[in-house]
Amino acid sequence: MTLWEALKTGEKYLEEREIPDAALDAWYLLEDILKKEHGEKVNRAWFLMNRQEEIGERLHTAYTQGLEQRGTHVPLQYITGEQEFMGIPFFVNNKVLIPRQDTEILVEEVMKAAHPGMKLLDMCTGSGCIAISLVKLVPGMKAVASDLSGEALETAGENARRQEAEITFVQGNLFESVKGQFDIIVSNPPYIPSAEIEELMEEVRLFEPRTALDGREDGLYFYRKITEESSGYLKEGGWLMFEIGCSQGEQVSELMRNAGFSHVAVCKDLAGLDRVVKGRLERKP
Ligand code: GLN
Repeated sequence: MTLWEALKTGEKYLEEREIPDAALDAWYLLEDILKKEHGEKVNRAWFLMNRQEEIGERLHTAYTQGLEQRGTHVPLQYITGEQEFMGIPFFVNNKVLIPRQDTEILVEEVMKAAHPGMKLLDMCTGSGCIAISLVKLVPGMKAVASDLSGEALETAGENARRQEAEITFVQGNLFESVKGQFDIIVSNPPYIPSAEIEELMEEVRLFEPRTALDGREDGLYFYRKITEESSGYLKEGGWLMFEIGCSQGEQVSELMRNAGFSHVAVCKDLAGLDRVVKGRLERKP
């Protein structure tokens, strides 16, 4: 079987199983396997030049295994083990939420408020994508990242090691293991109301960690807890910045104002939807 035939067979296989973006995912799976074999020179142009080459039994088996997984709705990124975020390749597995492009808006808001040598706390760090990209992008930033899940922290630690990003990881329930005072607390906490999880696409609902999605009854549980407790860990003049679900802007703003935050503002994502709420703690309560 040639590379071209393998790709076409893969496309058809995923289309028959009604996988979203079947053709694209068939290509990404093949590209991933070819990259692991031939290195970074593999891209679409390389593939078109070499499409009449035999795929070979070993690569064909690997490709078939990838297609079979994707055919049961396992997210592409859990199969390839990678998702890019802020231009950085992050290692992912099913212990962590796959980094989303929407979350780059949150990172960009933090960057606007950042100054050299500042201290950042990333609450619910997951893959570590927020803390790690900020440490890479803001010179001299010092970061602590917290998560309840030891398995998520192992994944985040692996990402920090690969990116040579110096981060202090702590394991605990929200602020339980956090010490110190921070200039910015950033968080993309679980925010889907429990009852809505069943309506999500299978890729998310069946394979991403439920604890990274579930914001309890009204989806706001973690915003309430983090907002309440953050004043104990923010310096005066410090910022609290959240990613939110697109319908939560008003409610999260209200929570923050009630807790004494000023300059509360909602920022939109590239689709024009509310995506970030931020506020400043001018004076400690
Ligand atoms: N902070 C991580 C991210 O943005 C994980 C978020 C989560 O698990 N809810 O991807």
